[in-house]
Amino acid sequence: MIDVHAICDEFCELVQIDSPSGEEAEVARRLQEKLAEIGIESEFDDAAAKTGGNCGNLIARLPGAKGAPTVLLNAHTDTVEPGRGIKPQVDGALVTSDGTTVLGGDDKSGVVIILAVLRELLAEGLPHPPLEVVFTVAEETGLNGAKALDYEQLHAEMAYVLDGGREMGVITNAAPSAFGLTFEVKGIAAHAGVCPEEGINSIQAAAAAITQIPLGRIDSETTANIGVIKGGNATNIVPELTLVRGEARSHDEEKLRAQVDCMAQAFAGAADEYGAEVSSKIERSYTCFHVPDDKPVTRYAMRASEQLGIEPQTETGGGGSDANIFNEHGIPAVIMATGPADVHTVNESVDCAVMAASARWLLATLGLIASDAG
Ligand SMILES: [Zn+2]
Repeated sequence: MIDVHAICDEFCELVQIDSPSGEEAEVARRLQEKLAEIGIESEFDDAAAKTGGNCGNLIARLPGAKGAPTVLLNAHTDTVEPGRGIKPQVDGALVTSDGTTVLGGDDKSGVVIILAVLRELLAEGLPHPPLEVVFTVAEETGLNGAKALDYEQLHAEMAYVLDGGREMGVITNAAPSAFGLTFEVKGIAAHAGVCPEEGINSIQAAAAAITQIPLGRIDSETTANIGVIKGGNATNIVPELTLVRGEARSHDEEKLRAQVDCMAQAFAGAADEYGAEVSSKIERSYTCFHVPDDKPVTRYAMRASEQLGIEPQTETGGGGSDANIFNEHGIPAVIMATGPADVHTVNESVDCAVMAASARWLLATLGLIASDAG
């Protein structure tokens, strides 16, 4: 039986094990123990070497119904800062932090749901398809654990990413592409009072560039942001170096390209105008996806929802997740609700009732996939 209290206890246990991105080893070892207690062997891949973290992705395999497609279940083990020394506060089914850290429900809620589902499947001998369970590292720092997976070793034909929001029944089946942009503007340092005419002000050049760039919501499919600016050392020095970092996202590759080009050209133009130099680093962070409603991975999740009396709805997400990477590698992946709200803030909360409902939803989904095969 899926029990809200057991889920709440396990969630509180796991959020108290610090696991900021790159430092997931301790929580991952605990997950390996928990899987072993359930009766499932698991092993780490070599993602630690590729991501520079202290731990790889934890991978487990479970045979299932003959003829059924292999299903990947995923949640990420890392959390954002401030995320050390988390003290969960329980009020009924609602859990919050003490207000000084995030709660870590992104994505320990997903981890706990997967554990609850695996425990239930094995304890009750419930039908399920063959499963590949992947607890990824370094999701928050650029989906780096999912990028480091060896896809030759995975046989999954579809994936459920347990890394969603509060509202039950919501299936996120689309997400944008994104680019990260870094501009380093190099002017010339000079004494600001004695010989300012010998200097070139990199802050002024960067500012001129930024004012040329449309930011925020560009259109219904596209967003852009300048999120970091660092430059200068003292008020009496014309600043030589200014570093600017931003991003652009879109569900449409052409619009994304146009926005990225616009940002790069603004910096090139402003550097020219001020006699500064600019070096740009423009990198794709992830590629957009849209899994149609009639694809098995979406269809089964919607049918399971209906079976439980929850109105299913597909939704377009605004962010990147490991689902982007699975889709890029040809594994159709959707994201399921897991119960957190206000993630990445100290006001984050998780509703354990939603976690329990999500676990039941996933069990029903797996049951449908297995029964269709047999
Ligand atoms: Zn997440």
